[in-house]
Amino acid sequence: MRIVLVGPPGAGKGTQAAYLAENLSIPHISTGDLFRANISQGTDLGRQAKSYMDAGELVPDEVTIGMAKDRMERPDATGGFLLDGFPRNVSQAEALDAMLKSEGMTLDAVLDLEVPEDEVVKRIAGRRICRNDSSHVFHVTYSPPAQEGVCDVCGGDLYQRDDDSETTVRKRLEVYHTQTEPIIDYYRGQGLVVTISALGKVTEVTQRAMAALQ
Ligand code: ADP
Repeated sequence: MRIVLVGPPGAGKGTQAAYLAENLSIPHISTGDLFRANISQGTDLGRQAKSYMDAGELVPDEVTIGMAKDRMERPDATGGFLLDGFPRNVSQAEALDAMLKSEGMTLDAVLDLEVPEDEVVKRIAGRRICRNDSSHVFHVTYSPPAQEGVCDVCGGDLYQRDDDSETTVRKRLEVYHTQTEPIIDYYRGQGLVVTISALGKVTEVTQRAMAALQ
């Protein structure tokens, strides 16, 4: 299956993507995670991306599309993938369509996670992520780790992302409304969009998502 996950920052895309990818046996491809890995490894690409990310802006398409394409061309993605955070504007969606078309492939679904804005801000403010693996995500009140600051899964250090500060979150939401939401209409035109509520327990949302994708 080839699936695109969309939703505002804080919708739980990363959390859901990890479960869905496992259930569907396809790789989880997150452009945000790819950028963060490049930043922590100190690559040129990471240096180019960091200032945009810290400001809550989109990293330019020239950088992003090439990176996403390289990842999608790796052998583990030939049978399908779950895209999280890509495409994030209409020109990226068009680039993805062209890329798939040239391989004779199409998307199967676009899963749209819906969540009210005040909930998003609460979720992001308390979000803590593991330094070893950014799919290990916690929240100081909604899903606290057993020991403060320590990952339950692997014992790694938990930290707050640089772009999770309140001002940057507001900017990311604005960018989401103006640049990313239009891709939902774009994909609606292709009959691909399924919308589910991202409220409730993580496992409930996963069940809803699996049911919607069947
Ligand atoms: P969230 O979904 O919580 O906003 P992500 O980890 O997906 O977080 O993305 C963090 C940041 O990485 C974005 O604010 C943006 O700067 C950059 N980014 C991620 N994916 C893309 C993309 N497809 N195009 C441009 N920038 C991106």
